Amino acid sequence: MKYICPQCGNTELYLESGGIMGNIYHCKKCSYVGTFVIEGEEDMIKEIEEGHKAETRKP
Ligand SMILES: [Zn+2]
Repeated sequence: MKYICPQCGNTELYLESGGIMGNIYHCKKCSYVGTFVIEGEEDMIKEIEEGHKAETRKP
């Protein structure tokens, strides 16, 4: 099980802090900061990366 950035699919997430808000994660690649991360395996990373590329292709 890995923690995956919901925006770019990166797995290099820093745990910023924990507390009443829960854990806050900080993505090293796209600087996403939030409590929501995807918990998944390697194959999910590819799906997110491909989905991200498909979105950027739209005019
Ligand atoms: Zn990211």
